[in-house]
Amino acid sequence: MADAIFSNLPTTVFEEMSGLARELGALNLGQGFPDDPGPREIRAKAAEAVLDGYNQYPPMLGLPELRQAVAGHYRRTQDLDLDWAGEVVVTSGATEALAAAFLGLIEPGDEVVVFQPVYDAYLPLIRRAGGRPRLVSLSPPHWRFDRTMLEAAFGPRTRFVVLNNPLNPAGLVAPEEDLALLAELCVRHDVTAICDEVWEQVVFGGARHRPLMAFPGMRERTVKIGSAGKMFGLTGWKVGFLCAAPALSRTLARVHQFLTFTTAPNLQAAVAFGLETGRDWFAEMPQSLARSRERLAAGLAREGFAVLPGQGTYFLNLDLPASGVDEPDRAFALRAVKEAGVASIPVSALYEDDPVTTVLRLCFAKSDAVLDEAVVRLAKARELSRRDAL
Ligand code: PMP
Ligand code: GLN
Repeated sequence: MADAIFSNLPTTVFEEMSGLARELGALNLGQGFPDDPGPREIRAKAAEAVLDGYNQYPPMLGLPELRQAVAGHYRRTQDLDLDWAGEVVVTSGATEALAAAFLGLIEPGDEVVVFQPVYDAYLPLIRRAGGRPRLVSLSPPHWRFDRTMLEAAFGPRTRFVVLNNPLNPAGLVAPEEDLALLAELCVRHDVTAICDEVWEQVVFGGARHRPLMAFPGMRERTVKIGSAGKMFGLTGWKVGFLCAAPALSRTLARVHQFLTFTTAPNLQAAVAFGLETGRDWFAEMPQSLARSRERLAAGLAREGFAVLPGQGTYFLNLDLPASGVDEPDRAFALRAVKEAGVASIPVSALYEDDPVTTVLRLCFAKSDAVLDEAVVRLAKARELSRRDAL
């Protein structure tokens, strides 16, 4: 299967757009990362851990203090009862956790229900494991699935479903009733859910993140994946977590030992500290991001751009045709970075087939000055696009 050959894979859109931004000196509202250095106390803790210890191999499953902190955090914030010793594995980012889940659980021929827009890592890894993706397409403005869509996708060979909630790029926080519906289908078809919940703390506007694992029948059949990178705005740290019932966790841990074996111990210690002490951070960080979103949305609206709704992640989406842009998203994104100096992500890059080509993703986890300048540059890009259309 040609698709499974890794050397044939294109460079991911995140690297492509960040590469162009670096090369051209553009503002980078493409790849999702904040432009501030992250919480000082947590970085200080990491520096201390580098100097005062924690520099040799930590335990394969992760530092006990971090696994305890992860279980404690999810107990406080999501009412989950996880046994830190048997149900939490620390990984090198959510990306490694995803790889461990796909490579460790999927057998050749298994069908895997995947929603698109789809995070770039899922399909190559699922195929490498021999899985057969069954794609369910979500569309703007609401990006929700319904019973008909799920019933068409789930069949006798379905073994897994992959859920990204809150959803990158859409910013959708799945409503309770949608999760209950998905849980019902998983139980009926004896399907395991692989839940990428890296954005779970980045939720605002009155929305509430609920883990699929908490729904009836899901506790034993869910792999829940988190990332300190998103929790603390330290995206380069690559400290992630796998949480699952003991039988699943054992398999995942065996794969983890041959993917990376361990994760930087000093960073693990600092993340444990952050989870134990970060209650104020978890309250303030989403509020501050909501203000940034509001600022970018208001600036864009003043310029006549149409902003789609969203309640989470670092991302705001523009409806291009409703914003007066007639070009497809990718052409406009390339124009914006090359001719107006602002990088973004064309959402069509996150579809495998029948892409939505009308939505542009912008990362708003940036300073006010950057956001204000981005609005000016996007307006300029639209002007150039209109001029060329004449
Ligand atoms: N899944 C999703 C949906 C993401 O948005 C990201 C990164 N932003 C990841 C996984 C990867 O997380 P990490 O950097 O911890 O590997
Ligand atoms: N998750 C980040 C985003 O969506 C990108 C991470 C990456 O570049 N692999 O922008």
